Amino acid sequence: MGKKVNQICSFFVYPIIKEFPFFALFLFIFSSELIPFAIEMINDFSPLWTRSLLGRIGIILLYDYIFTSLIAHTGSKTLKYIFYVVVLLLYGINLFLLLNFNYRISLNVLILLLETNSREASEFMDGYLLSDSSLTVYWKITLRLLAIIILEFVYNRYIVHRIVEKKRLTHILFVPVLLMCIWGIVSYSTVVRICQHTTTEEFFNQQMMEIIKPKDPISSTILSVYGLFIVGHEMENAIETTKNLKNIPLVDKSDSLNVILVIGESFNKWHTELYGYDHKTTPGLSRESQNGNLFIFNDAVCPFCLTSPSMKGLLSSNSISDGEAWSDYPFFPAIFKAAQYNVYFWDNQRTFNNTEPYSISLNSYLYNEEIINLSYTATNDSSFTYDDELINSFEKKVKSYSDHNLIIFHLMGQHYNAQERFPHDKRFLHFTADSIHRKEPYLKDREKRQHIADYDNAILYNDYVIQHILNLFREKNTVMVFLTDHGEETYDYKDSMYRNYEGMTKGWIKHIHSIPFMVWCSDTYIKNHEKTVEAIKNSTERSFMTDNLCQLLFHLGEIESDYYIPERDVISDRFVPRKRIIEDVIKYEKYDYDEIKNQQ
Ligand SMILES: [Zn+2]
Repeated sequence: MGKKVNQICSFFVYPIIKEFPFFALFLFIFSSELIPFAIEMINDFSPLWTRSLLGRIGIILLYDYIFTSLIAHTGSKTLKYIFYVVVLLLYGINLFLLLNFNYRISLNVLILLLETNSREASEFMDGYLLSDSSLTVYWKITLRLLAIIILEFVYNRYIVHRIVEKKRLTHILFVPVLLMCIWGIVSYSTVVRICQHTTTEEFFNQQMMEIIKPKDPISSTILSVYGLFIVGHEMENAIETTKNLKNIPLVDKSDSLNVILVIGESFNKWHTELYGYDHKTTPGLSRESQNGNLFIFNDAVCPFCLTSPSMKGLLSSNSISDGEAWSDYPFFPAIFKAAQYNVYFWDNQRTFNNTEPYSISLNSYLYNEEIINLSYTATNDSSFTYDDELINSFEKKVKSYSDHNLIIFHLMGQHYNAQERFPHDKRFLHFTADSIHRKEPYLKDREKRQHIADYDNAILYNDYVIQHILNLFREKNTVMVFLTDHGEETYDYKDSMYRNYEGMTKGWIKHIHSIPFMVWCSDTYIKNHEKTVEAIKNSTERSFMTDNLCQLLFHLGEIESDYYIPERDVISDRFVPRKRIIEDVIKYEKYDYDEIKNQQ
């Protein structure tokens, strides 16, 4: 019995004693960047941060122990050299990216790498190989290499043979090593949970939600490669279906038509007088409505509360309520392009937060090279602080609006922080904390009321931007659809802001999932399309979900392909209301919107 215990003890502890230099250096190389965090933690204690930091160290220790055990139990020197090279290489690449570009090994970097050809890559590297930051990387690697050589030499020459057979040391170290392994395995469950997901949306969201953010080079590599696999798989599907469009009849070119889609961002419709707000945040749209050009839809619902899945749902021709995944159906702008439309895509989120998982996930779709070729006539190439500058850039670049055009504007809208979304001049600093007369006890705080006022100011600016767009096309044969990717909350029904999910409550779905939706028609369009305008007017009270948006646009754009399904087109007389399935972002559970709305 005693012998067995001894054997187990020594099996676990032996690797660390035998290969202590490797174990110590691995830990040092991969965790040294955590030292500043640890110091910060001591000065400013936060339980969440501490958990995160301990978890990240636990993950590094687990890798360390596995590598060390492999070397010790196989006794292979070659394996040890290979591991040292891998460790230094990963450390070096990560540091190179971090110091030169403020990136880490990530999915974004992998995608960039795969999309760059060797000539571009070598030209690019020429510029950075000898930068000051790169020189720092080289000497840091050299120092670590020297430490490896010295420590290995001294330890193997003078120390290891004296302690390797010591039973007492083995017994003393057994419990700490065991605890370390448990700590490592518990922390590593984070990586396992993330890699259990098989769609990009779930995969990225899980990363956002985990308290421990594994950023060590090994976890980053594992997560990036796995992410690349998922993104690649979905993208392959999406491109394949978009490439193989069938039977798209060309549009009748004797006429001209502008179909405009404006996609807002984080737009809470209850903050507009169009939907009953007591402040006039949309004077422009109200005027259009009074003039009989704008038709307000009262029961539109979006399926997700996040930008990336929502946008994919809007731009792919799938129907979520019918169980169709976005990646199995074509990107609808490509259908317009195939019908000989000019397709312009002007996106103010193109370069926004583009190291964040959600931007990577969406933009790798919108700006995939094949998607670009199949779908767009032209796109913007940079983003702007304020949305109106995006419209200016479109105006400068696209001169003629004759012919058939599909023009998509993707705005920054009221994305948090709303106060950063409008120029702080007199016109838009219209509402202040004093304009907000709500009586909820949690709104006694002036700062919170100021947040609401700034959100309203951002809507006022959004209204101005939409007017700018309409003025460009007012005299033409034009129809425009405006909607948002999802809503937003700014102390609307509880003491919180920025979509703080608390479960699918009536308040949540009212402010986040029930969204503004409207169709604007120019005078010329109204004159030329009596029947369609009548159909729009008669549909404003229908209940529908925005993932079928493309069906309405096919109708307005007069594209009668096999992809047009009138039962899903909100203004068609064959429209059939369907169950509106919305998803939460915690467990990806599906809910029936109307069931929650009608709860007592
Ligand atoms: Zn959004």
